[in-house]
Amino acid sequence: AKLQGKNRLRRFDASMSSAALDMLTLESELWKALERNEIELYYQPLLQVAKQQALGVEALLRWKSPRYGLISPDRFIPIAEENGFIVKLGEWVLQEASRQCKRWMERGYEGSISVNVSSKQLMLANFAGCVLRILEESGLPSDRLCLEVTESTALLDVDHTREQLSLLTEQGVTIALDDFGKGFSSLSVLNELPFEQIKVDRSFIQHILDRPKNLATVKAIIQLAHSFGGVTVAEGIETPEQLELLKQLHCDYIQGYYFARPQPASEAERYLGLERK
Ligand code: C2E
Ligand code: CA
Ligand code: CA
Ligand code: CA
Repeated sequence: AKLQGKNRLRRFDASMSSAALDMLTLESELWKALERNEIELYYQPLLQVAKQQALGVEALLRWKSPRYGLISPDRFIPIAEENGFIVKLGEWVLQEASRQCKRWMERGYEGSISVNVSSKQLMLANFAGCVLRILEESGLPSDRLCLEVTESTALLDVDHTREQLSLLTEQGVTIALDDFGKGFSSLSVLNELPFEQIKVDRSFIQHILDRPKNLATVKAIIQLAHSFGGVTVAEGIETPEQLELLKQLHCDYIQGYYFARPQPASEAERYLGLERK
């Protein structure tokens, strides 16, 4: 029994340290991943409910590590936020996405590009200045950019957020409130900050057909957004039934696997109405 206990303890220790090691390796690999070109952007279209035309595309990070395989952003973004690397990574995403949208624009694309912003970026003293500088460098008109901010990020420091986001909206940048409904929503965030687009979190859409409360919530969010003069995007549409329901609720835009998964730029182009050459 004593031996067993010891073994169990050792096994426990081993798994603990391998989990810790895993974090450390991922962390140190992440710093090198950008330079090694292991990180790229995938793009997923946001489509108009009525015409199913692309309003825009959301840029989503992908890390393809030759050693560890495909690592999900849900896994490495928290690490990058923890160690501060997200600031550099976030700048890279903005640059890359702006340049890509500019190239599409030159080929006739009329939509926008949506980029996710982390709290560490938004909290920078000169966040707006940094975004505007990147736009200028890439040559992308500022009204082609949409920044996606989550509620918890926006509420960290409301005064700072309002100031920075207003500097951007004055220049024509659109701000979207991402994952809406998922946090401990306070409606004041809608009152106080310049959001034009509200993205209804996928967790509500997932069960919209079988949970009446989810349906009621989504309906209320859409009405609320419209009464504020905003537009709504439903995230995570996977079935024609969900689409039909969202249409009935007058949701403006949809995003989801039913239409398109996030894909590399060359494949995402199919949805953007670009002429093939
Ligand atoms: P998000 O911003 O809420 O992005 C939407 C996520 O839902 C994406 O996951 C997308 O692939 C996934 N999705 C889209 N349609 C469907 C669907 O129909 N069904 C299902 N099951 N999933 C769908 P992804 O690409 O794994 O990204 C996860 C999260 O990582 C993002 O959630 C975002 O919070 C974060 N992220 C990704 N790229 C960036 C980035 O460049 N910067 C920052 N700060 N965060 C990012
Ligand atoms: Ca997003
Ligand atoms: Ca989202
Ligand atoms: Ca999400």
